Amino acid sequence: MSWQKITGQERVKNILQRAIIENKVAHSYCFWGIDGCGKDALAIEFAKAHNCLSPIVRENTISACDECENCKSIDSLQNPNVQLLFSLPTPKNSSSKDENILYKMSEEQLEEIKQQIALKAKNHYHKISISGANQIKIASVREIKKNLSMSSITAGRRFIIISNADELTSEASNAFLKTLEEPNDDITIILTTSRIESILPTILSRSQQIHCSPIPDELIQTHIIENFNKSIEEAKIISVFAQGSYQKAIEYLDEDMQAFRETAINAFRYCLVNNYRIKLLKTLDPIFKLKNKKKLEQFITLLMLWLRDAVILNTTRNKNLIINIDQVEALELFVNYFGKKDLPACIEKLELAISRIPKNVMTELILMDLFLDLRNILLKK
Ligand SMILES: [Zn+2]
Repeated sequence: MSWQKITGQERVKNILQRAIIENKVAHSYCFWGIDGCGKDALAIEFAKAHNCLSPIVRENTISACDECENCKSIDSLQNPNVQLLFSLPTPKNSSSKDENILYKMSEEQLEEIKQQIALKAKNHYHKISISGANQIKIASVREIKKNLSMSSITAGRRFIIISNADELTSEASNAFLKTLEEPNDDITIILTTSRIESILPTILSRSQQIHCSPIPDELIQTHIIENFNKSIEEAKIISVFAQGSYQKAIEYLDEDMQAFRETAINAFRYCLVNNYRIKLLKTLDPIFKLKNKKKLEQFITLLMLWLRDAVILNTTRNKNLIINIDQVEALELFVNYFGKKDLPACIEKLELAISRIPKNVMTELILMDLFLDLRNILLKK
């Protein structure tokens, strides 16, 4: 993965490349920004560009060659100079006297950890997630410190990347702070976090803070179309859901958003006909069965995007502003028929339905209430 494979973040890429070229790499960085905007990917690429054996240097840029042994081992997260620290579960085999926390893990736990590292190696945007792991404990920090105290096996600068550093326990944070207080010229520590407010101020004040911004919708769309063969229609919808997170966009790729949206629009259509109940219930049946809050929110949001397009079309008549570009005809028909009704009130009802999801209201109730409300607003004389 080279700089180009990281979507957006041009400002950050420039800062990091300049630091290498001008030999001003800091002892500690904190990359912060929303989940999935590429913080870990940037950290790994930075370490790679720095440790590449034959980097490509041009004026103000320096990129890894992606061919040498260092590049390959850093990309696959197997280079001893680049260590990734992340939350681990409580070991199941804690009777082991061994100091290394990994040796205390059960076979199953180790397998899960290995799988997660493999996924991260394949896709640096991958968010490592291990069952029962939500803390970076002091044992992990001690392990890293022990490794750092030994001289490095290979030449080059050592990088410690603490992924989701907000998960450091306060004990671990304090142990780690000591490392920052005694900086080593050959070591760079990079904390990545989407919750910078949860990082110890004393750690932050010793780190160069670099904000990684959410990725613009257009960039996500281009990337999805070019790399995953998606249509512009689908890319547009996915980018809205991704909300600036490349990782989220990737997660949505596997889902058939268009089919899902079709169901939402059909249900909406059926709630406006005579004898609507049976048709509506039949259309919503697969959604009732999902039993998945995230999916339910997605379902309602898809309808909300469609209705927002209707409102935009109704007020501006500008087709270029809508998201569901393959739906122009249906949207125009709808607006011609219902344009004088209170469409913003419909959107409020959709928002209300979404706000009920976390409150454990039954899916059936949320959706039936919603569609009845929409029916009442639109059919009111
Ligand atoms: Zn290289």
